[in-house]
Amino acid sequence: MPALAVRYRDRLPIGEGTPLVSLGEGDTPLVHAPRLSERLELDLWLKAEGANPTGSFKDRGMAIAVARALEAGAKAVICASTGNTAASAAAYAARAGLRAVVLVPAGGVPAGKLFQAAAAGARLLEVRGTFDQALVAARELADGGEFALVNSLNPDRIEGQKTAAFEIVEELGVPDVLALPYGGGGNTCAYARGFEESGGGVPRLLAGEASDRAGTGASAIRIARPAHAIEAAAAIGRSGGAVVPLADDEIRDAWRLLAEQEGVVVELSSAAGLAALARETGGGGVRAVCVLTGHALKDPQTSPGVATIQVEPDPEAIAKAAR
Ligand SMILES: *Cc1c(COP(=O)(O)O)cnc(C)c1O
Repeated sequence: MPALAVRYRDRLPIGEGTPLVSLGEGDTPLVHAPRLSERLELDLWLKAEGANPTGSFKDRGMAIAVARALEAGAKAVICASTGNTAASAAAYAARAGLRAVVLVPAGGVPAGKLFQAAAAGARLLEVRGTFDQALVAARELADGGEFALVNSLNPDRIEGQKTAAFEIVEELGVPDVLALPYGGGGNTCAYARGFEESGGGVPRLLAGEASDRAGTGASAIRIARPAHAIEAAAAIGRSGGAVVPLADDEIRDAWRLLAEQEGVVVELSSAAGLAALARETGGGGVRAVCVLTGHALKDPQTSPGVATIQVEPDPEAIAKAAR
């Protein structure tokens, strides 16, 4: 499959002079979920965005944002991140030959994401503060002109991310409901735009947020003040959907259901869409797509427990333990 910037060239801010910066993002699996469909009385599909090159949907937007930064003559990109934007910015900047500076809240980002950003050569700065404070600093530095901001406040990020909606429409048509996690709200806006531009209507958008935004264990959506709150609320309202505040236990329960019922393991934050869906849809066989935003292996530590049993290398002991 050609790169997103090629496939959807006429629907993206891509011109003759825009360089192609691609790691093979997009074209992610849309997987039916038969057991959860039965359980929730839905026709449920899972959009597996963890299959993107750095393991999250951020890559769709980053491919476009970094290409446009390169086109504009930038030498360096900057972002504040709860982890996945950092991993993605680092990889795409490396690909484009740009410097990347990534700001993360100190102690608030899973090791896998830090590893990804550092491995790709980003300048990785742990800010003694929150994500929200890091974002204020990143915006100010970008305003100074030395760095191109590649947070989702950069409209090219939203443009790239809307392509996920195009893919869903091509494969399945417009579903009745689309459920996803709500951190800063950029992705919610991106899906709304993608469906609007597809012309077949917009599904009810169910945006699952942590009710304890500042303290949730779901680190990818640990954002106290969503940058896209106003635009996201408007898009959700137009769609007839809702923002669904979730307790961490509900997110963990949804995470476990995905893993045990469907064999689909994701990072914890990615289960917020299913948690919202489980709470808000009355079943009735409606067709729902749940966006699974990030890959499981990014964050094994804070995902619900790994239980192992130690055994002797003895068939009898193993047979007993295996029951
Ligand atoms: C970034 C991210 C989110 C939140 O997306 P927003 O656009 O900030 O709402 C959710 N899940 C994962 C895994 C993410 O990386």
